[in-house]
Amino acid sequence: LFETQPDPWQLDDQDDWLAARIVFAAPPFGPYDYSIPAELESSVKKGVRVIVPLGRGNRTMTGYCIDIMTPSHPDAATVKPNRLKPISRVVDAKPLIDEKLLKLSHQIAEYYISPLGTVIETVVPVGARENSGTREMLFLSVDPEVARDLDSVKLTPLQRNIIETMLGSNQDWTPGELAETVGCTQGPISTLRRKGHILSSTRRVQQKTHEIQPEARTENLVLNVEQQTALDAIAKSIDAEEYKTFLVHGITGSGKTEVYIRAIQQVVEYGRQAIVLVPEISLTPQTRRRFRARFDRVAVLHSHLTSVQRAWHWRQIAEGNVQVIIGARSAVFAPTPRLGLIVLDEEHDASFKQDNTPRYHARDVAQWRAESENVPLLLGSATPSLESWHKAQTGQFKTLSLKNRVLDLPLPDVATIDLRTDVAGMRKRFSPIHQKLRQEMAMALSEGGQVILLLNRRGFSTRIQCPSCGKVEYCPDCSIPLTHHVEGKKAVCHYCDHTIPEPRRCSDCGNDAIRFSGLGTQRLEAEVAKLFPDVEIARMDTDTMRKRGSHEKALSKFRDGETKILLGTQMIAKGLDFPNVTLVGVVNADTSLHLPDFRAAERTFGLVTQVAGRTGRGERGGRVLVQTFSPENPAIVCATRHDYVNFASGELPVREEFNYPPYGKLARIVVRGEVMAKAEQMAEHIAECINESADELELQLCVIGPSAAPLEKLRGLYRFHMLISTIETNTIQRVVTRAQTKIREMDDIQWIVDVDPYNM
Ligand code: ADP
Ligand code: ZN
Repeated sequence: LFETQPDPWQLDDQDDWLAARIVFAAPPFGPYDYSIPAELESSVKKGVRVIVPLGRGNRTMTGYCIDIMTPSHPDAATVKPNRLKPISRVVDAKPLIDEKLLKLSHQIAEYYISPLGTVIETVVPVGARENSGTREMLFLSVDPEVARDLDSVKLTPLQRNIIETMLGSNQDWTPGELAETVGCTQGPISTLRRKGHILSSTRRVQQKTHEIQPEARTENLVLNVEQQTALDAIAKSIDAEEYKTFLVHGITGSGKTEVYIRAIQQVVEYGRQAIVLVPEISLTPQTRRRFRARFDRVAVLHSHLTSVQRAWHWRQIAEGNVQVIIGARSAVFAPTPRLGLIVLDEEHDASFKQDNTPRYHARDVAQWRAESENVPLLLGSATPSLESWHKAQTGQFKTLSLKNRVLDLPLPDVATIDLRTDVAGMRKRFSPIHQKLRQEMAMALSEGGQVILLLNRRGFSTRIQCPSCGKVEYCPDCSIPLTHHVEGKKAVCHYCDHTIPEPRRCSDCGNDAIRFSGLGTQRLEAEVAKLFPDVEIARMDTDTMRKRGSHEKALSKFRDGETKILLGTQMIAKGLDFPNVTLVGVVNADTSLHLPDFRAAERTFGLVTQVAGRTGRGERGGRVLVQTFSPENPAIVCATRHDYVNFASGELPVREEFNYPPYGKLARIVVRGEVMAKAEQMAEHIAECINESADELELQLCVIGPSAAPLEKLRGLYRFHMLISTIETNTIQRVVTRAQTKIREMDDIQWIVDVDPYNM
């Protein structure tokens, strides 16, 4: 597969040279060409790492060989053969990345405007880059003194979090895993090591080998008519070895997973492998068990694997020893030798978008991969993304609908609680739990049921809402809510910077009790504890769930009935199956409905629908209560009726009018810096360079902003952002790539491009 030698006939040519094209995962990303010394000719291959000299001094750097260049290469003219430095050393005996995944990496690098080296490091997991069977590793432990009494030393909240995370699990921590689990950099960990609170030791470790345990096999169910129809369509594409994307649209419990399993069985029978992508949160033991019960060799790639475990799985997959790979986003890069099918369940889920470079979306990458490897792609959801829905409407995807719940469980009854009627009470002291919700909670609990309360954490932005009529002030040009700024008493659009003075009265009803803040989310737990002092409550959000295993612990306590009320962020809305939950409360639907983000309505519809699916799973049925100031909003009305089709057909024209996806293409540029004026200046400079580049290329594109980002200041850095909007595909890539050559970097200012942004 790999071009190890140039064509021998070509070597006889007068200009006979051989070069390797190298990229790096860090600046200066490359690509650069190097000559290949004779003794390395047989070991330099596409996909191996090499060590090369860089610059004038003795500096060397490790890079990836992405191409072997010869005089007959189509791009041979770009090589300057007699000016090349030689490669110093080859690191890998075998390529880390095969031809197909290398091609995919190129596609990702180009589309997401990211350095190819960074993309390759994302495709090849860290552990896989280690060669030998054993390796030297650094392990950390907490100083026993400190472990005994945390209060004996002075710790910042972050440092305390790090130590608590380490104490929360008796595994061996490596610095990398610790930083990843806590979500911090190496900085604070080093500080703790320097202070002696964290001790370190090195050990040679044997690479772990894990046996994949086959579980008892369960027999196939008899599919119902809708499931069979869906399976037949998919089977036809598998047989034909053709690329085709199917949108499997069915509410939770309609039997989608069963269809995936049957399609995968067919793929496995043909000796091929299937990749199943699910949101991280859905990688529950339930999911694993379900697949392991049907297939002998299943690899589950979740984020809590150590890098050694991950590497082991990766090698097993590459050697063809695995039939089915289940994993979150990055499993789309599983190095299967003969891919047969990709499934992406809960395809609307935002976790498929990576929020650091390369900012890829696994759905798009899966589509590229399926297309180039000629395999079908299944996208499943009860609430498809409008991008996928639109593609299905326009014939690019084939829709397969599962309209009924398999076991004939009724959908839960969803009702709204209109918070607007509560203005008088609210002025005195606003309780996040309306009396009606409180009563229903008490009733559910007294009947032995359990309760889930959803609160959306992204309530940081302070919308301007009239508590009497529910009216929210929106930007006339962008159709997103204005954000209130205490400083300067103004209301600002975070897309285009449209600014008005802070309103004193509601522009609809004249009420003067305008509220500028979202609901105090942190207060909810305390409030619920006050209302139900004798009930065990668990809170689940990114803060409480940082520690390894804490997520599963909280869920299993809830499953066992030890905790009665589970409250948390959207984390709890997805994929969980608790038959005893008879009531779900959405504490304030407006927090997600009026976010300054064009996807706010879609998110809210999805969130309410998903969380509603968390109840009514047992015989007792279930009920959902949605607290809102906007009960007539179509997103909420449709969600209460479980009516996706109507929601989509109402929302798509709005997207079209404002050129938002799926009609227009967007990219977001975020500029960050400690000095506000400097960051703003840089943002303006970037906007100028982009406009200039678009003019030069004669491409139609619109820069919206720059303006202060919705999260204006984060971790001490001021943030400005701008949106680039266009209709044509590839325009953004061409313009930004050209602009990059014009932009003068500024000290202490960072900026990033996010193509197809998700979180605004
Ligand atoms: P979804 O993935 O759409 O939520 P599942 O495939 O998980 O739906 O199916 C929901 C439940 O119904 C599961 O417990 C599954 O085992 C069961 N089920 C699915 N298909 C059938 C069928 N044809 N006959 C009986 N039970 C089924
Ligand atoms: Zn605007």
